[in-house]
Amino acid sequence: MQIIHAKQALTVSGWQSDLEIAIDANGRIAAVGPQGQTPTHRAALLLPAPLNLHSHAFQRAMSGLTEARGPDPRDSFWSWRRLMYTFLDQLTPDHVEAIAALVFMEMLEAGYGAVAEFHYLHHAVGGVPYDNLAEMSERIVAAAVQSGIGLTHLPVHYQFGGCDLRPLNGGQQRFGNDPDRFLRLHADAVAAVAAGPSDFASGMAPHSLRAVDPAGMSAILGQARSGPIHMHLAEQVAEVEEVLAQLGARPTEWLLANHPVDERWCLIHCTQMTNSETGALAATGAVAGLCPLTESNLGDGIFNGTAYLGEGGTIGFGSDSNVHISLFEELKTLEYSQRLRDLSRAALATQDRSTGRVLFDAAAKGGAQAGGRQSGMIETGVWADLIGLDNDNQWLCNRKGDAVLDSLIFGGGGQLCIRDVWSAGRHVVKEGRHFKRDDIIRSFKNTMLQLETSI
Ligand code: ZN
Repeated sequence: MQIIHAKQALTVSGWQSDLEIAIDANGRIAAVGPQGQTPTHRAALLLPAPLNLHSHAFQRAMSGLTEARGPDPRDSFWSWRRLMYTFLDQLTPDHVEAIAALVFMEMLEAGYGAVAEFHYLHHAVGGVPYDNLAEMSERIVAAAVQSGIGLTHLPVHYQFGGCDLRPLNGGQQRFGNDPDRFLRLHADAVAAVAAGPSDFASGMAPHSLRAVDPAGMSAILGQARSGPIHMHLAEQVAEVEEVLAQLGARPTEWLLANHPVDERWCLIHCTQMTNSETGALAATGAVAGLCPLTESNLGDGIFNGTAYLGEGGTIGFGSDSNVHISLFEELKTLEYSQRLRDLSRAALATQDRSTGRVLFDAAAKGGAQAGGRQSGMIETGVWADLIGLDNDNQWLCNRKGDAVLDSLIFGGGGQLCIRDVWSAGRHVVKEGRHFKRDDIIRSFKNTMLQLETSI
């Protein structure tokens, strides 16, 4: 039994002082309140650790390498696409496992307790299946076990190169399955996850309306009887136009008209929605999965956050391309996008909650819902996904209440305040460092030495 004493803690009933939390041997919060025993750990501040609801782990290896222009000035995706396909000609299961371990470690050090990994790199070069169909899924599970992060594994169905059903070519072939093979792969991946720690979970993920046709969507979702369902929705203008031309409706319109979207769903990238789509998606109870740092990096557009939250919609945050792992920067970037668009301040704040409180509460609640994980709050019975932080420093100056969250998110030193992180009770970050930091970085650096990264 671990017992944490917190000078301040953000619980389901708000901020509490001098709170003790007991974590049982299974990794759940066993009790909240006085324990009558000497604490095993102390924290000036204790927060629930949100789940990172969208990641493509292998793309972490591309961070910082895709910011150049190509020969055609109209093609701003040139360097990103070139490096993506260069990597897809090289990545082995060992490489993927080492990269995923690094990025999962970085997520934990940033204060995420868990991750929903949207996993579509399934096969060997040329689209040849591994002898073990779920080899790559097993490597993601192994990286999660190594790092100690809580995992919601989302095997992705990806079949076509566009809405016109053109076949996959080049590196994309590594993603591809027909529905039958995908369902076999999915069953094997679910079994691999079930053999892992008891907090690990699985879901289902059609990649997008570009990569999966309507019949394929129905075929795989017919087998998704429980667990979360994730899909890329409406990220870029060209994607919306392609779906409109082929399916006769914009992606959000088409999805809501053809599938019973509800709280099990998490729609990634809702940057290209009309006002009526924004209201309609908010009303479903689904999570809008926002990835503000990646969406900024890729120039996707601005999510209509003020309207979506005004309509009672649920949001959560993901690191997507993993170009920069920072929980607090993700939250800040969403808020700043609204301010820049509307020429406003405190855009997402409410009468009774500051901007930082609204953002952090949303990240914790929406992340847990999207991951199908009982977490995101300090409450008896849920997984002990927790962040312990220092408060006596130049960034927080012993502040109290919501001003703490505002300072962590907007003051720039938030991540440096993190001392401890627990994922389902696993104490994986101590003194601000992941417990396997040196080994994981060494393995990642060896992997990068083996990969050709010039484009
Ligand atoms: Zn994505």
